[in-house]
Amino acid sequence: MIEKKITCIVCPIGCEIFVKGKGEQIQEMDGYQCNRGMDYAKTEFIAPMRIFTSTVKIKYGCNPIIPVRSNQLIPKNKILECMKVIKSVEVKAPIQEGEIVVANILDTGANIITTTGYDCAF
Ligand code: SF4
Repeated sequence: MIEKKITCIVCPIGCEIFVKGKGEQIQEMDGYQCNRGMDYAKTEFIAPMRIFTSTVKIKYGCNPIIPVRSNQLIPKNKILECMKVIKSVEVKAPIQEGEIVVANILDTGANIITTTGYDCAF
């Protein structure tokens, strides 16, 4: 049996939610004040998800790197693998905000997109 204290980040109240269980089985939960928090804590306990953020190299840009993020949540346990994929990616300026630099990264269904645009190719 595992016990975890999870701070809910769904709203600014930041309830501390205590979850006890094993694998995908939750035995006890306490401390949440709403269903959104309950759902958040369940996901955090069973399979935490995160928005991936990083940078990739850019050729002909004003800066040597450009910030990127996933366009949806990805499993937290794939973040390190995503970093390895991103490390070998290089894009070219000009580039627009929201352009896909890696589609369906690691078969997660998430695309890695630019969070800003650079139009200063030279
Ligand atoms: S459990 Fe509900 S009230 Fe508490 S922090 Fe999460 S969303 Fe906010």
